[in-house]
Amino acid sequence: MTAAPVRLMLNKAHYPVTSLGPGTRAGIWTQGCTIGCAGCVSQDTWAADPGTSVDLAALQDWLAGLPEPLDGITVSGGEPFQQPEALAALLEWVGRWRRERSAPLDVLVYSGYQLARLRREHPGLLARCDAVITGPYVERLHTPGLRWRGSGNQRLTALTALGHERYGGPEPGGAPPMQVAVADGRIWFIGVPGPGDLDRLEARLRASGITVEEVSWRS
Ligand code: SF4
Repeated sequence: MTAAPVRLMLNKAHYPVTSLGPGTRAGIWTQGCTIGCAGCVSQDTWAADPGTSVDLAALQDWLAGLPEPLDGITVSGGEPFQQPEALAALLEWVGRWRRERSAPLDVLVYSGYQLARLRREHPGLLARCDAVITGPYVERLHTPGLRWRGSGNQRLTALTALGHERYGGPEPGGAPPMQVAVADGRIWFIGVPGPGDLDRLEARLRASGITVEEVSWRS
């Protein structure tokens, strides 16, 4: 009997991503999150909608077809660890694929869960990540200048030699870069905005005659 194809609920996938991890990366945002952090800017990723499921093989083909440079893959959400089977299959494939590549490629995964819980419940998944950024977003703990983390309580943990090489030092400072991507009738803001940043951006768009009808940072 042939095994059923593995599917992943996916909000979006994008290349190049330069604001969530070092270098030029592929970004994968999973769909579905029950954590419900107040002030989450990705509320469009909350609903675990099976209609967003994609065949993992299609995502792998997309990754394998990306141009260089490709320094890493960032998986965010949504809550990636709420789809452990699909995440495991994806990261297992990435592990095999990157061994065939000449340039090193790291895997950074975001989670709203604390690292201790992930170590307890998903040690096998953590073993496939080079680094993780863990913990819920806490708006009042937003710390200006954190490049890859939304709030100061979130922890960046390097888990492998490559992870230590790329994430072990001090997190780069300075204003976090934000990217804007337009695809499929949606405008995406990629990066770590501060509280109110997206409302201010919406106001500036409105002042320029551009009306934003639905936004991901308000329910
Ligand atoms: S910040 Fe992340 S973990 Fe928190 S509700 Fe939003 S998607 Fe979920």
